[in-house]
Amino acid sequence: MANDSDKAQGTDFIRARIEEDNKTGRFGGKVHTRFPPEPNGYLHLGHAKSICLNFGVAKEFGGQCNLRFDDTNPVKEEDEYVHSIAEDVAWLGGDWEDRKFFASDYFERFYEYAEDLIRKGKAYVDDLSADEIREYRGTLTSPGRESPWRNRGVEENLDLFKRMRGGEFADGEKVLRAKIDMASPNIIMRDPTIYRIRHASHHRTGEKWAIYPMYDFAHCISDSIEGITHSLCTLEFVNNRELYDSDLDPQEIYHPQQIEFARLNLTYTILSKRKLIQLVRDGHVAGWDDPRMPTISGLRRRGVPPSAIREFCSRIGVARADSTVEYSMFEYCIREKLNESASRLMAVIEPLKVVIENYPEGQVEEFEMPNHPEDRARGTRKVPFGREIYIEKDDFRLEPPKKFHRLFPGSEVRLRHAYLITCREAILDDDGNVVELRCTYDPESRGGQSPDGRKVRGTLHWVSADHGKPAKVRLYDQLFAVPNPDDVPEGKTFIDNLNPASLETRDAWLEPALAEIPTGETVQFERLGYFCKDRDSTPETPVFNRTATLRDTWAKVEKKESGK
Ligand code: ATP
Ligand code: MG
Repeated sequence: MANDSDKAQGTDFIRARIEEDNKTGRFGGKVHTRFPPEPNGYLHLGHAKSICLNFGVAKEFGGQCNLRFDDTNPVKEEDEYVHSIAEDVAWLGGDWEDRKFFASDYFERFYEYAEDLIRKGKAYVDDLSADEIREYRGTLTSPGRESPWRNRGVEENLDLFKRMRGGEFADGEKVLRAKIDMASPNIIMRDPTIYRIRHASHHRTGEKWAIYPMYDFAHCISDSIEGITHSLCTLEFVNNRELYDSDLDPQEIYHPQQIEFARLNLTYTILSKRKLIQLVRDGHVAGWDDPRMPTISGLRRRGVPPSAIREFCSRIGVARADSTVEYSMFEYCIREKLNESASRLMAVIEPLKVVIENYPEGQVEEFEMPNHPEDRARGTRKVPFGREIYIEKDDFRLEPPKKFHRLFPGSEVRLRHAYLITCREAILDDDGNVVELRCTYDPESRGGQSPDGRKVRGTLHWVSADHGKPAKVRLYDQLFAVPNPDDVPEGKTFIDNLNPASLETRDAWLEPALAEIPTGETVQFERLGYFCKDRDSTPETPVFNRTATLRDTWAKVEKKESGK
């Protein structure tokens, strides 16, 4: 991973374990991890945690990390997902070099391993149906029962397994099961299915196979084949470890160390591929990369830089117990990175027209503005100014609360880097809405300087009405209205917790330079927040997505004022 994730990686239990293994020379000092997604959906922020961990650990210890697609389920997998996953991992900074692997590349070897288990009397072909197998399995409190087919002879099993491969049987007619222990307290060990019949086309092997290995069987053998030293996985795999041992041990093949860590849970957010698919499929969002989605592609489109995601993953660290992280922590990381990287420009998203009565008609001036207040190396740009400008509706009040330092009848404010103006009159429509302000400017205040030391506290952003460019701005809020979207009463689902106001669109005005920035760049609209130019932009109408708000100090002042 890039350098910014390397610092501040304190020692957690995973790194401590690896250090220990290195000390004892267990894997010859080698560290080799992998990120093993199933290509059945788009990656989300939870996967980012796993990516940062696996690629991060490898880099810190001078090791390697593979990208491996655990593509054992032909029905749910698609090339679209393979491409998006590789793109997302690379964007986050994961570098697998030439080690992009697919479990499907090992199908022939899995088959040989399975035959080997049969020969050792450790696997058998079962004719029970899926329902019967479930029923025979027993429960947490009662042991399972043995299948009547459990004691088939080796030759018969080998023959049947070969014929399963040959496509002779229908889906579900037979399975291959590991022969372990139907009375095991660990239900996973009660003769788990390791192969099933699926007459389905696989995204890489096509029609070649009529049988497919189960995830658990393929996953641990793939790790073994690739010489993975430390198999980092989430806590729900704790019970699978025993199974992986029993898949690998009889084969007498190389054995990685599995280490489990807690999944990422985030407030206001769903991190489950199955549920995210539902949001896309049922049209609750505009697609996988809808900027409200917690997918990597959604965050990218929203304008979140990869460094912010890495920073977030580094800050939350890894733990052995499940917990839920506050979304505000993620936003903090976004703001911190964008504060450094984003240029500052001016846009007005709720425009109110201001006519500067004593400014000569037809006159245009250009003001030179820095692109970043703390980084002069980023240069300046010229911003045109004229007699008519737009300011933010919210920056004017007919009846201002106390300590309101912005515009109201009679008040004087600074137009950023331009002039001091005083409000003379507000023009209302028939309904009493303010539709225009008449102001005057102080010609001696060029650049926004007070000519005689008089104090002017408010500074407003603005856009010249003659030179500004119209744009669409999308204001995003949380996709879910409650901190734990999965917490629902009987008869409801997480869908009922969607936030109906998660997207609002505004007709905005941009300073000219803002309309010209490249698609995908995130900038700060001064005083408003961070915004990313979206690919829906046309030459006539740029479209911007709000990445994050700035901390809103005004809201705080006004809250205090009104005693709320
Ligand atoms: P989902 O529950 O969203 O379907 P998954 O675990 O089925 O996720 P995989 O493609 O198997 O998805 O995930 C690849 C890797 O990412 C696995 O090692 C998995 O443990 C890890 N991972 C998935 N979700 C999270 C999460 N929320 N936090 C940390 N790691 C995760
Ligand atoms: Mg999984």
